[in-house]
Amino acid sequence: MRDSLARVSREVVGCERCPRLRAWCREVARTRVKRFRDEEYWGRPIPGFGDPRARLLVVGLAPAAHGGNRTGRVFTGDRSGDFLFAGLFRAGFASQPESTGRDDGLRLRDCYVAPVARCAPPANKPTPAEVATCREYLVREWALLGDVRAVLVLGRIALDGFLAMLRETGRDVPRGLAFGHGVVHDLGGGVRLFCSFHVSQQNTFTGRLTPRSFDAVLAEVKRHLARG
Ligand code: SF4
Repeated sequence: MRDSLARVSREVVGCERCPRLRAWCREVARTRVKRFRDEEYWGRPIPGFGDPRARLLVVGLAPAAHGGNRTGRVFTGDRSGDFLFAGLFRAGFASQPESTGRDDGLRLRDCYVAPVARCAPPANKPTPAEVATCREYLVREWALLGDVRAVLVLGRIALDGFLAMLRETGRDVPRGLAFGHGVVHDLGGGVRLFCSFHVSQQNTFTGRLTPRSFDAVLAEVKRHLARG
């Protein structure tokens, strides 16, 4: 059967391959936090989200326990998402700056967002084995998103996960590609890889990542895409 983004999403939502992550997501969904105690949590893996014709692929780390794991959409319902989608909105890739729930009307234009692990991990840290187990989904999305010309990785784990995915597809990717905010790598074939610090509160609350420094990376992405 021909693969499709809808099929990948369905399989992600039903995935049970990582017992530790599945148990954690269910437990968080059962116990909740005080401020969301009246909400029904999603509690399942989170599929990728965005425009199937996207030229920009944004690669994140993993959903947050009370963000994506609660709302069912990646980077939705938490401060990381507020920062990310506000930036994508300013750059013209999102229809609105808010990302509060699956029915909030947000649309991505020319942009698709996918994490390297699709279940919220304890302490926001999936193990390397869990990221590797989840890789198949990114491999398939990469194959299906045929228009991508720019990849924006949010943080080092996303960079490593994305490069490992590329190697798995047989692409010849040099080892030891540097990570740093604003670092750009040419992947060949007109595709460029842009690095940004992750949009986590750890970075945005401390000023390590600011709207201005994030906008600067997105401006580089847009310049690249405009060159065709
Ligand atoms: S992290 Fe990925 S592979 Fe592991 S259970 Fe979640 S969706 Fe499945």
